[in-house]
Amino acid sequence: MRIDVAIAHATERLSAVSESPRLDAEILLGRSIDMPRSYLLAHPEDELDDATRSRFEEVLKRREDGVPMAYITGIREFWSHEFAVSPATLVPRPETEMLVDLALSEIPRDATWQVLDLGTGSGAIAVSIACERPLCEITGVDISEDALAVARENARAHASGNVIFECGSWTAPVRGRTFDLVVSNPPYVRNDDEALAALEHEPQSALAAGDDGLDAIRVIAADCPDVLVAGGLLAIEHGFDQADEVRSLLESRGWTDVRCHNDLAGLPRVTAARRSGK
Ligand code: GLN
Repeated sequence: MRIDVAIAHATERLSAVSESPRLDAEILLGRSIDMPRSYLLAHPEDELDDATRSRFEEVLKRREDGVPMAYITGIREFWSHEFAVSPATLVPRPETEMLVDLALSEIPRDATWQVLDLGTGSGAIAVSIACERPLCEITGVDISEDALAVARENARAHASGNVIFECGSWTAPVRGRTFDLVVSNPPYVRNDDEALAALEHEPQSALAAGDDGLDAIRVIAADCPDVLVAGGLLAIEHGFDQADEVRSLLESRGWTDVRCHNDLAGLPRVTAARRSGK
């Protein structure tokens, strides 16, 4: 089979599961023949050998099953870096870059802050902040050792010597320490949300958070005052329809200066609040 025919067939097969079926097909075929996409476009008439065809068929089937491209290729771009991902970690989402943006607008360039990232997963947020603020020390916490193995690989790959990882539940592994800033992209999807089915290949523990999707945010709002300096900022990502609930939850816990920020799609996505000063 010729390269252009293989791409056309694969594009058709992937159009039911992907919003970018042709791009996916080209990336997957490129990997199967170990050549960049540009090669495919320059050599449409090349014939695929049997070994390549069976490699291509194998990854196509996984993609048809709904496996995210990032798990097949093992990488995802976030904050202009390539991050390793695995099924133990959520695939970093573009809207989460907002959280990095907000953190960086808070941290002066020459600051030597301690920054905490709760539920760090692949470490995308922690490593991105660490790269931009080399004088700060970022601590990423996650309950999954498998996720932390990926996060450590990402820290090494991006030479972020200023990020460390701790395994445990939310603030448990950092009790007794004090941070200048806390960021988190916790699970926040409602247990009965139909969207979860489409995310079946990603770790459900990183997505679902109880009947109202706020279980993790409740713990964070309750526990973070103990590990944050007075006046320090907490910034949490949440669902586009959770801004009001997150605000009242934070205010009822004594957080002040509660502000919600929209993502690039214009949806309320990150709420920040300050630990009241004492
Ligand atoms: N934004 C993700 C989604 O919809 C959810 C991420 C999360 O729960 N932290 O799919």
